[in-house]
Amino acid sequence: MTIARLAHLADAAACPRLVVKVGSSLLVGAEGVRRGWLQGLVAEIAAARARGQQVIVVSSGAIALGAARLGLERGGRGSLADAQAAAAVGQIALSGLWAELLCAHGLTAAQLLLTLEDLEDRRRYLNATATLTRLLDAGAVPVINENDSVATQEIRFGDNDRLAARVAQAAQASAVLLLSDVDGLYDRNPADPAAVLLGEIKGVTAEVHAMASGSTSSGMGSGGMTSKLQAAEIAERAGIALAIASGLHDAPIARTAEQGIGTLFLPRRKDAGRKAWLGGRLRLKGALVVDAGAARALAKGSSLLAAGVMRVEGDFGRGDAVAVRSDDGATLAHGLAEYDALECARLMGRQSADHAAILGYAPRSAVVHRDQMVLL
Ligand code: GLU
Repeated sequence: MTIARLAHLADAAACPRLVVKVGSSLLVGAEGVRRGWLQGLVAEIAAARARGQQVIVVSSGAIALGAARLGLERGGRGSLADAQAAAAVGQIALSGLWAELLCAHGLTAAQLLLTLEDLEDRRRYLNATATLTRLLDAGAVPVINENDSVATQEIRFGDNDRLAARVAQAAQASAVLLLSDVDGLYDRNPADPAAVLLGEIKGVTAEVHAMASGSTSSGMGSGGMTSKLQAAEIAERAGIALAIASGLHDAPIARTAEQGIGTLFLPRRKDAGRKAWLGGRLRLKGALVVDAGAARALAKGSSLLAAGVMRVEGDFGRGDAVAVRSDDGATLAHGLAEYDALECARLMGRQSADHAAILGYAPRSAVVHRDQMVLL
């Protein structure tokens, strides 16, 4: 059974494993932690567990909480050092809070702090999967945040929306619920009285992105909606449903599921494990720009041959993840390179028959093999 309606988020058969992401503004208000609200949410998590759903929490709020305690300006986001110091202070309080409130319902909290690299390195990704699975089987409720205190700019997710989508993928969850301060995605700037809340999206197309950028210009939802759409793209490709709903109300999960208020991004296709991981990667080591003939061949399921490569960007090694792009800048695929960047540059535009002579050793069959590539 797959998820086709918001109501399915509260249905153990359709959604046996749910990731709930809670944004900072829901957890921390001007007066500090919004404890009463959080107690309500935890009661909903306990209810979900009681009806047979496993729940993973992705919780923001460490920086906001820590900044308040340390008295840092700009919510602790004035500099990277401030944010990292604030997160170190806030994370202890945050995990303590979750542990305490879950414990009141007889539930055991488990803390995981992850960086982008933990989920983009294949071995670490599989390890995170194993840990999450074991925790869920043992009956714990994983409470996850980014490891903000140590993550450098380079290995940061930067937002918990994409982290939640990647966690859902690693945990093979059925759905992600992003609780935020908006009801969902509107068809235009939500400040426009004619704006309509979209209940269902089949595929995050360019048109859908344009709707979100409409809200950016108003300053409402702003960058927030952009990262949510990126999360939706990761999820849909992995065969996972993603919903955006407002957490500003009490019992937000029930409001979303029972009243159907929110936007549901339907899962689009289910790439097999390794391909889903590859397609959802956020950090790539380089790119191969290909000609129109190669682009057509890729769309038909062929491997990428050196003859169709026009340009090589970045400094990648063999086995690194690279983007495959068309000349007009559109990303066609992600794949693992069979050659390093220098070798690709030497082989590009050349027919396979010439490769052995160019390289001086036996060539591989393709620059990116179709089994190591996912079309986007
Ligand atoms: N990890 C950040 C925190 O705990 C939040 C990231 C986000 O805003 O999405 O404060």
